[in-house]
Amino acid sequence: MHEMSIAVAVVEQVEEAAARLADGTGAAPSARSVHLEVGELAGVVADALAFSFDLACTGTVLEGAALTTETVPGRARCARCARDWPTGMPPRLSCPGCDGAATELLAGRELRITEVRWAEAEQRRPVATLPEEQ
Ligand SMILES: [Zn+2]
Repeated sequence: MHEMSIAVAVVEQVEEAAARLADGTGAAPSARSVHLEVGELAGVVADALAFSFDLACTGTVLEGAALTTETVPGRARCARCARDWPTGMPPRLSCPGCDGAATELLAGRELRITEVRWAEAEQRRPVATLPEEQ
């Protein structure tokens, strides 16, 4: 299942981030929530992703973490007349201006972790989490 491999990849990335945060302290923080940007054209079924995410989190620092997703609308641009338009889903890939088919996809295939919230991170490492002064 496509969504399962995405969920596993997300969990791996968050675990790596947790390991980096734990560096030197020995204790990896647990993730409370993960926010994902998902392109409209990425072919991800939200329900299947949520289900897979819960499974993939079991036994990791993400156990019990909430997954929130944000859909990024698809956008395409015509190489001939430079017009751009929302593709919609199923996507319209021919130019609404000149009917050209030389189309460049500008957005809609994203699959990106944009935010991870950590539990207790603030209390546990009040100094280490502050940005260095410029
Ligand atoms: Zn065009």
